[in-house]
Amino acid sequence: MIPFNRPAVTGKETTYIQEVVASRRLCGDGPFTKRCSEWLENYSQTRKALITTSCTHALEMTAILADIQPGDEVIMPSFTFVSTANAFVLRGAKIVFVDIRPDTLNLDETLIESAITPRTKAIVPVHYAGVSCEMDAIMDLANRYELKVIEDAAQCLMSTYKERPLGSIGHMGCFSFHETKNYNCGEGGALLLNETRFAGRAEIVREKGTNRSRFFRGQVDKYTWVDVGSSYLPSEMNAAYLMAQFDHADAINSDRLASWNRYYEGLRGLEEKGRITLPSIPNHCKHNSHLFYIKTRDLEERTDLLLYLKEKGISAAFHYVPLHSSPAGVSFGSFQGEDRFTTRESERLVRLPLYYQLRKDEADQVIDSIYSYYESN
Ligand SMILES: *Cc1c(COP(=O)(O)O)cnc(C)c1O
Repeated sequence: MIPFNRPAVTGKETTYIQEVVASRRLCGDGPFTKRCSEWLENYSQTRKALITTSCTHALEMTAILADIQPGDEVIMPSFTFVSTANAFVLRGAKIVFVDIRPDTLNLDETLIESAITPRTKAIVPVHYAGVSCEMDAIMDLANRYELKVIEDAAQCLMSTYKERPLGSIGHMGCFSFHETKNYNCGEGGALLLNETRFAGRAEIVREKGTNRSRFFRGQVDKYTWVDVGSSYLPSEMNAAYLMAQFDHADAINSDRLASWNRYYEGLRGLEEKGRITLPSIPNHCKHNSHLFYIKTRDLEERTDLLLYLKEKGISAAFHYVPLHSSPAGVSFGSFQGEDRFTTRESERLVRLPLYYQLRKDEADQVIDSIYSYYESN
């Protein structure tokens, strides 16, 4: 059986975790947490990076930092993971879903302006599959209407837009290190902050609403409750695991890219025959091979192909059910304008197995099976 995903292991994880165990200091914000945040700050050139317990939690922090109040509106695609919306719903916001582009499956930047109202507070671009949204257009709108841009860059470590790392372009950006992502520690995430004015408050929100971080730096002589907050900092064990992945970031990235390219080249013939659609990467975007997907003719063909691949021992998967059609999406949000592509494109999508050290013969078996499906159908 070829699995859909296999979390990367680089070899150094256990060594680093043993160091933590030996140090007898397991709670958050120890030496490995510091190394992870410095690595991220250096990589992204943002003012501040904070590692968190998940991307979901990083998004929740952004909703607090952006001061989202009940009744405020937040614009995002419906084709995304539930956490993108939940983080803002928890603060009482109304979610305004905007249609996606059929090529990248990202928020259609030309439709955002018509969704802006006096209650709009933020735009949340989701960079699907590690491929960037049109950030220049989005930042321009945000500046004109004084909105916050919070990038859901969960899938995007090592991806860029016009040479700039994703997650570092908006006011805030969120990464995920869940085991299904390219770089992982089981459960984990990070928050990138582009403006120093959010950094102080972010530390407080992440430390249960206290100024504990300042206390540990010796900037206050006792720590107290100063703001709202929760516990968003991961254990040193997770940070140690994550650091082993960061140390290997380039190797993981180039290995995944090779598999992605193998799929792309291998399946081109079927796209040329008009049987499937392959992913489209704009020239100014460099992606991190987070996902490889193909698009079938329609839902019926997709169901059939997924079953066929399963019988061949290949675990392929569809992806998001659009949020606006889910029970919570209906009560917490509404779709602005026409759903031309969100539902249609999501129903055609098939994600192929892709992970660090996917073997060439495994990728070829997937490619051959897809060809044999289309030969007999
Ligand atoms: C994975 C993912 C998340 C959630 O990440 P967690 O770390 O599991 O909380 C949020 N948004 C998108 C787009 C994702 O792919």
